[in-house]
Amino acid sequence: MTELPARRLLLVHAHPDDESINNGATMARYAAEGAQVTLVTCTLGERGEVIPPALRHLTGAALGEHRLGELTAALRELGVTDSGLLGGAGRYGDSGMMGLPDNDDPGCFWQADVDTAAASLAEVVLRTRPQVVVTYDDHGGYGHPDHIQAHRVAMRAVELAADAGWTVPKVYWNRVPRSVAEDAFARLRADLPGLPFDRVAAVDDLPGVVDDDRITTAIDGTAYAGAKAAAMRAHATQIDVAPDAPYFALSNELAQPLFTTEYYELVRGERPRERESDLFAGVEAVAR
Ligand SMILES: [Zn+2]
Repeated sequence: MTELPARRLLLVHAHPDDESINNGATMARYAAEGAQVTLVTCTLGERGEVIPPALRHLTGAALGEHRLGELTAALRELGVTDSGLLGGAGRYGDSGMMGLPDNDDPGCFWQADVDTAAASLAEVVLRTRPQVVVTYDDHGGYGHPDHIQAHRVAMRAVELAADAGWTVPKVYWNRVPRSVAEDAFARLRADLPGLPFDRVAAVDDLPGVVDDDRITTAIDGTAYAGAKAAAMRAHATQIDVAPDAPYFALSNELAQPLFTTEYYELVRGERPRERESDLFAGVEAVAR
């Protein structure tokens, strides 16, 4: 068995683009610092709405294939070399937004058997032996079926891997502290006249916003702001990133802040007394 890097991080996301929006700075920083950074994406996002008019002809499988190319380009910007699609490309279909008939498609991720999907992910956990797993909260951050399912599958995979010989010491959910979101939106509203957006999202539109006291960890990725913005730009079908300003919009055209400090809530592992600045804090770095 080849020796693994001493620090190992696994992120589980629903669609191509979620990794860059939520964790782009974190991924770039740990990759640059020599940690093993592994991304598992559960679907190809082939039901996503396409922003650029010139690409709107892409739908279904063609869009999924295109988004896989965007993901590859984004990971290159982040310096991340280990990634895969859960169960292989196309195994789980995008479920579409909550409440749509797409949710009933038997091939969609929302209809997947959690234990079966988690067994596939547990194989990745056993191969990569992460000390840290990052995913969404039980609401998927904002209620998208694929994000909720990614949460369920990730949490179950951690249990299955523990039974099979690798106990993940720390599991985190993606978060944004309410005060940080409110401050960022105040700046955004002030900056709006100089931005290529007409309207602004609301704090409650952001995934994972919680009261500040729930935040256990803040990762300062300021030095990787450029890499994160470049990775987000690589997802051109999904994200419209402002030039030279830390803002972006999704297909709803509502401007929102682009965070380069990324926040987390530790949900497995001993809760720290003070806010951590390193996902691996307290973890013994062991190559094995
Ligand atoms: Zn998503």
